Amino acid sequence: MNDHDYSVDTLAIRAGGLRSPFNEHSEALFATVSFVHESAEMAAKRFTGEEPGYIYSRFTNPTVDMFERRLAAMEGADAAIATSTGMAAISTLAMTLCSAGDHIVTSGSVFGSTLNVFGAPVMGKFGVTCEVVNSTGLDAWAKAIRPGTKLVFLETPSNPMADVFDIAAIAEMARKVGATFAVDNCFCTPVLQRPLALGADVVIHSASKHLDGQGRVMGGAIVGTKEMCRERVYNFLRTTGASLAPFNAWVILKGMETLPIRMRAHSENALALAEWLAAHPKVANVNYPFLASHPSVALAKRQQSGGGAVLSFNVKGGKTEAWKVVDAVKIMSITGNLGDVKTTITHPATTTHGRMTQAARDAAGIGDALIRVAVGLEAQDDLRDDLARGLAQI
Ligand SMILES: *Cc1c(COP(=O)(O)O)cnc(C)c1O
Repeated sequence: MNDHDYSVDTLAIRAGGLRSPFNEHSEALFATVSFVHESAEMAAKRFTGEEPGYIYSRFTNPTVDMFERRLAAMEGADAAIATSTGMAAISTLAMTLCSAGDHIVTSGSVFGSTLNVFGAPVMGKFGVTCEVVNSTGLDAWAKAIRPGTKLVFLETPSNPMADVFDIAAIAEMARKVGATFAVDNCFCTPVLQRPLALGADVVIHSASKHLDGQGRVMGGAIVGTKEMCRERVYNFLRTTGASLAPFNAWVILKGMETLPIRMRAHSENALALAEWLAAHPKVANVNYPFLASHPSVALAKRQQSGGGAVLSFNVKGGKTEAWKVVDAVKIMSITGNLGDVKTTITHPATTTHGRMTQAARDAAGIGDALIRVAVGLEAQDDLRDDLARGLAQI
Protein backbone atom coordinates (compact mmCIF):
# COMPACT_ATOMS: atom_id res chain seq x y z
CA MET A 1 0.00 0.00 0.00
CA ASN A 2 1.49 3.33 -1.07
CA ASP A 3 0.45 5.60 1.77
CA HIS A 4 0.53 8.76 -0.35
CA ASP A 5 -2.44 7.46 -2.36
CA TYR A 6 -4.83 7.39 0.60
CA SER A 7 -6.66 9.93 2.71
CA VAL A 8 -5.97 10.28 6.42
CA ASP A 9 -9.27 8.49 7.20
CA THR A 10 -8.07 5.37 5.42
CA LEU A 11 -4.52 5.57 6.80
CA ALA A 12 -5.88 5.79 10.39
CA ILE A 13 -7.45 2.36 9.93
CA ARG A 14 -5.21 0.62 7.41
CA ALA A 15 -1.67 2.04 7.52
CA GLY A 16 1.16 0.22 9.25
CA GLY A 17 -0.55 -3.10 9.96
CA LEU A 18 1.73 -6.14 10.35
CA ARG A 19 0.10 -9.58 10.26
CA SER A 20 1.61 -12.57 12.10
CA PRO A 21 1.54 -16.13 10.64
CA PHE A 22 -1.84 -16.60 12.40
CA ASN A 23 -3.51 -14.09 10.02
CA GLU A 24 -5.34 -12.23 12.78
CA HIS A 25 -7.64 -9.46 11.49
CA SER A 26 -7.25 -7.03 14.41
CA GLU A 27 -3.69 -5.87 15.09
CA ALA A 28 -1.96 -8.13 17.63
CA LEU A 29 -0.48 -7.17 20.98
CA PHE A 30 3.05 -8.60 21.19
CA ALA A 31 3.60 -8.64 24.94
CA THR A 32 7.15 -9.92 25.01
CA VAL A 33 10.43 -8.56 26.28
CA SER A 34 12.71 -10.40 23.85
CA PHE A 35 12.62 -12.37 20.58
CA VAL A 36 14.11 -15.79 19.84
CA HIS A 37 16.75 -16.46 17.16
CA GLU A 38 17.02 -19.75 15.28
CA SER A 39 20.79 -20.02 15.46
CA ALA A 40 23.90 -18.43 16.90
CA GLU A 41 24.61 -17.01 13.46
CA MET A 42 21.16 -15.43 13.17
CA ALA A 43 21.52 -13.93 16.64
CA ALA A 44 24.92 -12.50 15.71
CA LYS A 45 23.63 -11.01 12.45
CA ARG A 46 20.63 -9.44 14.12
CA PHE A 47 22.76 -7.89 16.85
CA THR A 48 25.09 -6.28 14.31
CA GLY A 49 22.15 -5.15 12.21
CA GLU A 50 23.36 -7.20 9.24
CA GLU A 51 19.98 -8.97 9.17
CA PRO A 52 16.65 -7.35 10.10
CA GLY A 53 14.69 -8.83 13.00
CA TYR A 54 13.42 -8.13 16.46
CA ILE A 55 15.81 -8.51 19.39
CA TYR A 56 14.49 -6.80 22.50
CA SER A 57 11.43 -4.59 23.10
CA ARG A 58 13.42 -1.61 24.40
CA PHE A 59 14.73 -1.42 20.80
CA THR A 60 11.79 -2.51 18.66
CA ASN A 61 8.55 -4.48 18.97
CA PRO A 62 5.98 -5.33 16.27
CA THR A 63 3.03 -3.66 18.08
CA VAL A 64 5.08 -0.52 18.66
CA ASP A 65 6.20 -0.68 15.00
CA MET A 66 2.58 -0.70 13.86
CA PHE A 67 1.84 2.43 15.90
CA GLU A 68 4.96 4.16 14.51
CA ARG A 69 4.16 3.23 10.92
CA ARG A 70 0.54 4.34 11.19
CA LEU A 71 1.39 7.70 12.78
CA ALA A 72 4.17 8.37 10.25
CA ALA A 73 1.79 7.65 7.37
CA MET A 74 -0.85 9.98 8.80
CA GLU A 75 1.67 12.81 9.29
CA GLY A 76 3.02 12.28 5.76
CA ALA A 77 6.44 11.30 7.14
CA ASP A 78 8.93 8.55 6.37
CA ALA A 79 9.33 7.42 9.96
CA ALA A 80 8.31 7.80 13.60
CA ILE A 81 9.78 6.69 16.90
CA ALA A 82 7.46 5.91 19.80
CA THR A 83 8.29 7.04 23.32
CA SER A 84 6.91 6.26 26.77
CA THR A 85 5.24 9.70 27.14
CA GLY A 86 4.97 13.00 25.28
CA MET A 87 7.62 14.48 27.60
CA ALA A 88 9.92 11.57 26.81
CA ALA A 89 9.58 12.50 23.13
CA ILE A 90 10.45 16.13 23.85
CA SER A 91 13.39 15.44 26.17
CA THR A 92 14.71 12.70 23.85
CA LEU A 93 14.61 15.08 20.88
CA ALA A 94 16.41 17.85 22.80
CA MET A 95 19.11 15.48 24.09
CA THR A 96 19.57 13.83 20.69
CA LEU A 97 20.05 17.14 18.89
CA CYS A 98 21.88 19.36 21.38
CA SER A 99 25.36 19.38 22.87
CA ALA A 100 26.92 21.79 25.39
CA GLY A 101 27.08 25.29 23.92
CA ASP A 102 24.06 24.80 21.67
CA HIS A 103 20.99 26.98 21.72
CA ILE A 104 17.24 26.23 21.75
CA VAL A 105 14.53 28.70 20.77
CA THR A 106 11.06 27.87 22.11
CA SER A 107 7.68 29.49 22.22
CA GLY A 108 6.77 30.56 25.77
CA SER A 109 3.26 29.19 25.32
CA VAL A 110 4.21 25.51 25.23
CA PHE A 111 3.35 22.77 27.73
CA GLY A 112 4.82 23.81 31.11
CA SER A 113 7.09 20.77 31.48
CA THR A 114 8.53 21.46 28.02
CA LEU A 115 9.89 24.81 29.25
CA ASN A 116 11.47 23.01 32.21
CA VAL A 117 13.16 20.46 29.92
CA PHE A 118 14.62 23.13 27.62
CA GLY A 119 15.57 25.48 30.48
CA ALA A 120 17.74 25.40 33.62
CA PRO A 121 16.18 22.30 35.30
CA VAL A 122 17.30 19.87 32.53
CA MET A 123 19.11 21.02 29.36
CA GLY A 124 20.63 23.97 31.20
CA LYS A 125 22.51 21.54 33.44
CA PHE A 126 24.35 20.28 30.36
CA GLY A 127 25.35 23.70 29.06
CA VAL A 128 22.53 24.24 26.59
CA THR A 129 20.94 27.70 26.57
CA CYS A 130 17.31 28.43 25.80
CA GLU A 131 15.61 31.56 24.56
CA VAL A 132 11.86 31.90 25.10
CA VAL A 133 9.78 33.83 22.56
CA ASN A 134 6.56 35.19 24.07
CA SER A 135 4.95 36.29 20.83
CA THR A 136 3.40 34.99 17.63
CA GLY A 137 5.05 37.97 15.84
CA LEU A 138 7.58 36.92 13.19
CA ASP A 139 9.99 39.74 14.12
CA ALA A 140 10.44 38.27 17.60
CA TRP A 141 11.19 34.82 16.12
CA ALA A 142 13.62 36.25 13.57
CA LYS A 143 15.50 37.99 16.39
CA ALA A 144 15.74 34.84 18.55
CA ILE A 145 16.74 32.29 15.86
CA ARG A 146 20.48 32.65 15.14
CA PRO A 147 23.54 30.69 14.02
CA GLY A 148 24.13 28.13 16.79
CA THR A 149 20.41 27.52 17.26
CA LYS A 150 19.99 23.74 17.07
CA LEU A 151 16.30 23.36 17.89
CA VAL A 152 13.27 25.62 17.29
CA PHE A 153 10.14 24.42 19.06
CA LEU A 154 6.51 25.51 19.27
CA GLU A 155 2.91 24.36 19.72
CA THR A 156 0.13 25.70 17.57
CA PRO A 157 -2.57 26.47 18.51
CA SER A 158 -1.22 27.16 21.97
CA ASN A 159 -2.63 26.17 25.34
CA PRO A 160 -4.74 27.75 26.86
CA MET A 161 -4.81 30.98 24.82
CA ALA A 162 -5.24 29.42 21.34
CA ASP A 163 -2.47 31.57 19.83
CA VAL A 164 -1.73 30.51 16.26
CA PHE A 165 1.87 30.48 14.94
CA ASP A 166 2.88 30.70 11.26
CA ILE A 167 4.55 27.32 10.73
CA ALA A 168 5.81 27.99 7.18
CA ALA A 169 7.39 31.36 8.04
CA ILE A 170 9.17 30.07 11.16
CA ALA A 171 10.30 26.95 9.25
CA GLU A 172 12.07 29.21 6.76
CA MET A 173 13.93 31.04 9.57
CA ALA A 174 15.04 27.73 11.13
CA ARG A 175 16.19 26.36 7.76
CA LYS A 176 18.41 29.41 7.17
CA VAL A 177 20.51 28.70 10.28
CA GLY A 178 20.38 24.90 9.96
CA ALA A 179 18.22 24.39 13.05
CA THR A 180 15.74 21.53 13.41
CA PHE A 181 12.20 22.90 13.61
CA ALA A 182 9.83 20.80 15.71
CA VAL A 183 6.08 21.34 16.11
CA ASP A 184 4.12 19.75 18.96
CA ASN A 185 0.99 18.65 17.06
CA CYS A 186 -0.81 17.24 20.07
CA PHE A 187 -3.81 19.62 19.85
CA CYS A 188 -4.56 19.18 16.14
CA THR A 189 -3.22 15.70 15.35
CA PRO A 190 -2.48 14.92 11.68
CA VAL A 191 -6.22 14.91 11.04
CA LEU A 192 -6.46 18.69 11.40
CA GLN A 193 -2.90 19.87 10.71
CA ARG A 194 0.22 18.40 9.04
CA PRO A 195 3.20 20.52 10.10
CA LEU A 196 5.70 18.61 7.91
CA ALA A 197 3.81 19.65 4.76
CA LEU A 198 4.11 23.27 5.98
CA GLY A 199 7.90 23.02 6.37
CA ALA A 200 8.52 21.64 9.87
CA ASP A 201 11.29 19.02 10.21
CA VAL A 202 9.87 17.09 13.16
CA VAL A 203 6.43 16.55 14.68
CA ILE A 204 6.07 15.74 18.37
CA HIS A 205 3.09 13.95 19.90
CA SER A 206 1.78 13.23 23.32
CA ALA A 207 -0.18 10.10 22.42
CA SER A 208 -1.71 10.29 25.92
CA LYS A 209 -4.13 12.87 24.49
CA HIS A 210 -6.15 12.57 21.26
CA LEU A 211 -4.26 9.64 19.68
CA ASP A 212 -5.53 7.36 22.44
CA GLY A 213 -8.53 9.63 22.82
CA GLN A 214 -10.05 8.06 25.89
CA GLY A 215 -7.54 8.97 28.60
CA ARG A 216 -6.30 5.42 29.16
CA VAL A 217 -2.54 5.15 28.56
CA MET A 218 0.55 7.33 28.31
CA GLY A 219 2.61 7.52 25.13
CA GLY A 220 4.47 9.82 22.79
CA ALA A 221 6.23 10.00 19.45
CA ILE A 222 8.83 11.79 17.37
CA VAL A 223 7.93 11.93 13.68
CA GLY A 224 10.23 12.94 10.80
CA THR A 225 12.73 11.70 8.23
CA LYS A 226 14.23 8.21 8.32
CA GLU A 227 17.63 9.72 9.07
CA MET A 228 16.30 11.73 12.04
CA CYS A 229 14.13 8.96 13.49
CA ARG A 230 15.70 5.61 12.62
CA GLU A 231 19.29 6.72 13.03
CA ARG A 232 19.68 9.69 15.34
CA VAL A 233 16.70 9.39 17.69
CA TYR A 234 16.58 5.58 17.63
CA ASN A 235 20.23 5.19 18.58
CA PHE A 236 19.71 7.54 21.53
CA LEU A 237 16.41 6.00 22.66
CA ARG A 238 17.38 2.30 22.45
CA THR A 239 20.24 3.08 24.85
CA THR A 240 18.55 5.55 27.21
CA GLY A 241 15.32 3.56 27.39
CA ALA A 242 12.21 5.80 27.31
CA SER A 243 10.57 3.33 24.91
CA LEU A 244 6.82 2.81 24.54
CA ALA A 245 5.31 -0.26 26.20
CA PRO A 246 3.70 -2.68 23.70
CA PHE A 247 0.39 -2.64 25.59
CA ASN A 248 0.21 1.15 25.44
CA ALA A 249 1.15 1.08 21.75
CA TRP A 250 -1.69 -1.38 21.11
CA VAL A 251 -4.29 0.77 22.92
CA ILE A 252 -3.16 3.90 21.05
CA LEU A 253 -2.98 2.08 17.70
CA LYS A 254 -6.59 0.94 18.04
CA GLY A 255 -7.63 4.38 19.31
CA MET A 256 -6.19 5.98 16.18
CA GLU A 257 -8.68 4.12 14.00
CA THR A 258 -11.40 6.53 15.17
CA LEU A 259 -9.14 9.62 15.32
CA PRO A 260 -10.46 11.28 12.12
CA ILE A 261 -14.13 11.10 13.12
CA ARG A 262 -13.30 12.10 16.70
CA MET A 263 -11.24 15.14 15.70
CA ARG A 264 -13.98 16.45 13.43
CA ALA A 265 -16.61 15.90 16.11
CA HIS A 266 -14.39 17.58 18.76
CA SER A 267 -13.95 20.57 16.43
CA GLU A 268 -17.68 20.83 15.72
CA ASN A 269 -18.60 20.67 19.41
CA ALA A 270 -15.90 23.17 20.40
CA LEU A 271 -16.85 25.70 17.72
CA ALA A 272 -20.53 25.52 18.71
CA LEU A 273 -19.65 26.03 22.38
CA ALA A 274 -17.21 28.87 21.55
CA GLU A 275 -19.86 30.69 19.51
CA TRP A 276 -22.45 30.30 22.25
CA LEU A 277 -20.00 31.54 24.91
CA ALA A 278 -18.95 34.53 22.77
CA ALA A 279 -22.59 35.71 22.74
CA HIS A 280 -23.12 35.13 26.49
CA PRO A 281 -23.58 38.34 28.56
CA LYS A 282 -21.39 37.04 31.46
CA VAL A 283 -18.45 36.18 29.17
CA ALA A 284 -15.82 38.85 28.42
CA ASN A 285 -14.09 37.07 25.52
CA VAL A 286 -13.43 33.64 24.00
CA ASN A 287 -10.16 32.25 22.58
CA TYR A 288 -10.70 29.67 19.83
CA PRO A 289 -8.79 29.52 16.52
CA PHE A 290 -11.82 29.15 14.27
CA LEU A 291 -13.91 31.94 15.88
CA ALA A 292 -14.43 34.84 13.46
CA SER A 293 -13.14 37.20 16.20
CA HIS A 294 -9.78 35.35 16.62
CA PRO A 295 -6.90 37.65 15.56
CA SER A 296 -5.30 34.88 13.46
CA VAL A 297 -8.42 33.15 12.15
CA ALA A 298 -7.23 33.41 8.53
CA LEU A 299 -3.86 31.78 9.34
CA ALA A 300 -5.59 29.13 11.46
CA LYS A 301 -7.88 28.23 8.55
CA ARG A 302 -4.88 28.00 6.20
CA GLN A 303 -2.97 25.65 8.49
CA GLN A 304 -5.78 23.65 10.06
CA SER A 305 -8.88 21.90 8.71
CA GLY A 306 -10.64 22.24 12.08
CA GLY A 307 -10.29 24.31 15.24
CA GLY A 308 -9.62 21.38 17.59
CA ALA A 309 -11.07 20.61 21.01
CA VAL A 310 -9.60 23.30 23.24
CA LEU A 311 -11.05 26.74 23.95
CA SER A 312 -10.63 29.23 26.77
CA PHE A 313 -12.72 32.17 27.91
CA ASN A 314 -12.70 34.99 30.44
CA VAL A 315 -15.77 35.43 32.58
CA LYS A 316 -16.76 38.93 33.65
CA GLY A 317 -15.14 39.19 37.09
CA GLY A 318 -12.16 37.40 38.61
CA LYS A 319 -11.20 34.22 40.40
CA THR A 320 -14.42 34.03 42.48
CA GLU A 321 -16.61 34.21 39.38
CA ALA A 322 -14.44 31.75 37.42
CA TRP A 323 -14.47 29.24 40.29
CA LYS A 324 -18.31 29.53 40.46
CA VAL A 325 -18.50 28.34 36.84
CA VAL A 326 -16.04 25.49 37.45
CA ASP A 327 -17.82 24.38 40.64
CA ALA A 328 -21.28 24.38 39.02
CA VAL A 329 -20.49 21.76 36.37
CA LYS A 330 -22.14 18.35 36.64
CA ILE A 331 -20.92 16.72 33.42
CA MET A 332 -17.49 18.22 32.74
CA SER A 333 -14.58 16.76 34.73
CA ILE A 334 -12.45 19.15 36.79
CA THR A 335 -9.09 17.82 35.64
CA GLY A 336 -6.06 19.11 33.77
CA ASN A 337 -6.09 16.42 31.09
CA LEU A 338 -7.32 17.00 27.56
CA GLY A 339 -7.77 15.06 24.34
CA ASP A 340 -10.41 12.78 25.84
CA VAL A 341 -13.98 12.09 24.70
CA LYS A 342 -14.94 13.39 28.17
CA THR A 343 -15.03 17.20 28.41
CA THR A 344 -12.62 18.66 30.97
CA ILE A 345 -12.60 22.09 32.63
CA THR A 346 -9.78 23.87 34.45
CA HIS A 347 -8.91 27.21 36.01
CA PRO A 348 -5.37 27.59 34.58
CA ALA A 349 -4.18 30.41 36.89
CA THR A 350 -4.54 28.22 40.01
CA THR A 351 -3.75 24.79 38.49
CA THR A 352 -1.81 24.07 35.28
CA HIS A 353 -0.19 27.51 35.27
CA GLY A 354 -0.22 28.08 39.05
CA ARG A 355 3.55 27.72 39.45
CA MET A 356 4.29 30.56 37.01
CA THR A 357 5.02 33.97 38.52
CA GLN A 358 2.21 36.52 38.40
CA ALA A 359 4.27 38.56 35.92
CA ALA A 360 4.73 35.55 33.61
CA ARG A 361 1.02 34.75 33.80
CA ASP A 362 0.15 38.36 33.00
CA ALA A 363 2.53 38.32 30.01
CA ALA A 364 0.86 35.16 28.75
CA GLY A 365 -2.64 36.60 29.28
CA ILE A 366 -3.58 33.90 31.77
CA GLY A 367 -5.65 35.94 34.20
CA ASP A 368 -7.81 34.97 37.19
CA ALA A 369 -11.01 35.12 35.11
CA LEU A 370 -9.78 32.58 32.55
CA ILE A 371 -11.33 29.10 32.20
CA ARG A 372 -10.10 26.40 29.82
CA VAL A 373 -12.43 23.79 28.39
CA ALA A 374 -11.19 20.79 26.38
CA VAL A 375 -14.42 19.93 24.64
CA GLY A 376 -15.30 16.25 24.44
CA LEU A 377 -17.96 14.39 22.52
CA GLU A 378 -21.00 14.76 24.82
CA ALA A 379 -24.12 16.42 23.36
CA GLN A 380 -23.73 20.14 22.64
CA ASP A 381 -26.91 21.08 24.55
CA ASP A 382 -25.75 19.26 27.67
CA LEU A 383 -22.33 20.99 27.59
CA ARG A 384 -23.95 24.40 27.14
CA ASP A 385 -26.32 23.77 30.07
CA ASP A 386 -23.35 22.67 32.18
CA LEU A 387 -21.64 26.06 31.74
CA ALA A 388 -24.89 28.09 31.75
CA ARG A 389 -25.61 26.99 35.33
CA GLY A 390 -22.46 28.60 36.72
CA LEU A 391 -22.55 31.64 34.43
CA ALA A 392 -26.09 32.40 35.70
CA GLN A 393 -24.66 32.70 39.25
CA ILE A 394 -22.33 35.57 38.26
C1 LIG B 1 0.27 16.67 27.61
C2 LIG B 1 1.14 17.37 26.66
C3 LIG B 1 2.49 17.06 26.57
C4 LIG B 1 3.17 16.05 27.48
O1 LIG B 1 2.70 14.77 27.21
P1 LIG B 1 2.73 13.58 28.32
O2 LIG B 1 2.25 12.40 27.52
O3 LIG B 1 1.84 14.00 29.43
O4 LIG B 1 4.15 13.44 28.75
C5 LIG B 1 3.24 17.73 25.64
N1 LIG B 1 2.70 18.66 24.84
C6 LIG B 1 1.39 18.99 24.90
C7 LIG B 1 0.85 20.01 23.99
C8 LIG B 1 0.57 18.35 25.81
O5 LIG B 1 -0.72 18.70 25.89
